Amino acid sequence: MKIALIAHDGKKADMVHFLSGFRDRLLQADVELVATGTTGSHIEKAGFEVQKLLSGPIGGDAQIAAMAAQKELAMVVFFRDPLDKHPHEPDVQMLMRICDVHNIPLATNPASAALMFKAFTQT
Ligand code: PGA
Repeated sequence: MKIALIAHDGKKADMVHFLSGFRDRLLQADVELVATGTTGSHIEKAGFEVQKLLSGPIGGDAQIAAMAAQKELAMVVFFRDPLDKHPHEPDVQMLMRICDVHNIPLATNPASAALMFKAFTQT
């Protein structure tokens, strides 16, 4: 099962904190993680194995959208920062749209991501 992770700059610490809370469950469930570049570096530093794509603003969100469109992802966790502006806003909207087009579970905050992770990692 492959899970994609993206966090805007103001939410990267939240992403690491969130994943750390699910460390054991993620290992047991044999989950593969894929992330946009900078988010991936933070996740890696926290001790997770993760496939890093391009940074979001230069195409990483688009790469994840392509994976979603090809049904390669079990879910997308996208911690957006609703209080900041993003030069790649069109890519952000495109990724969320592609998730809806292909009915890919999409969590945009830790509360919804926790519910999904619990469901996905149930033993
Ligand atoms: P980043 O991209 O992980 O490379 O910072 C995330 C984003 O802003 O889309």
